[in-house]
Amino acid sequence: MIFELAALFALLGLMLGSFANVCVHRIPRGQSIAFPASHCPHCQHEIAMYDNIPLLSWLLLKAKCRHCKAAIAWRYPMMELIMGISWAGLAMHYGLRPELLVAISLFFLLWVLSVIDLETFLLPNALTYPGIVIGLLSSYWLGGIQGGLDALIGVVAGYAIFWLVARLFLLLTGREGMGYGDFKLLAMLGAFMGWQALPFIILASSAVGTIAGLVFIVLARRGMRTEIPFGPYLAMAGMIWFVWGSSILDWYLQFAGFQR
Ligand SMILES: [Zn+2]
Repeated sequence: MIFELAALFALLGLMLGSFANVCVHRIPRGQSIAFPASHCPHCQHEIAMYDNIPLLSWLLLKAKCRHCKAAIAWRYPMMELIMGISWAGLAMHYGLRPELLVAISLFFLLWVLSVIDLETFLLPNALTYPGIVIGLLSSYWLGGIQGGLDALIGVVAGYAIFWLVARLFLLLTGREGMGYGDFKLLAMLGAFMGWQALPFIILASSAVGTIAGLVFIVLARRGMRTEIPFGPYLAMAGMIWFVWGSSILDWYLQFAGFQR
């Protein structure tokens, strides 16, 4: 039963991954995600249904547009694959429970936001604002009044903490470290997971971001001012906490000598 469910969500994830590609391309450009139908960004030729099958079409077309032969970026099949795999994993982890619906919505938003941030250094309000609302509603749905309250505090605290850090950073260094998009993304994660998630998300994303930043600097030798988008690190830390947060908390409390 659980494997059938995983297979079903892998398929759904592949299809929604295809839609995620549309979102990544159009949302930063302020275009509608519903109309017109998918077209080749190079020759504008509309993409037929049979050329729009997740993964398969990319392989069959050998990563080229059928009409103009322009290369189709490998970001397209990657997004489909990553969505399919993560949704299948979530289905196995949660089973057919309300948490699964919340989890796949959150992961969809976080993958799309991460790729947009990597490509454009933007985290569009068109995604983070609805994300905050969906997060608040689902926290209330899953956790009642207390869940909703934790989420509300999470939104305000998430935004405020990063706003404060950015202010301090600007004061100390005279340049902008984080963007407003990062504040809103942390607020969104607070909405989905409550304020309790914030310490882990901030610590984990900063740690991984710092290490990755140093590696990039050494690799690229582009100097200390290299701008690396922070959104993907926040998104990763958020995914980890969403799935394993309570285990991490248990482990930590045990480690610190508390009993739950
Ligand atoms: Zn084309």
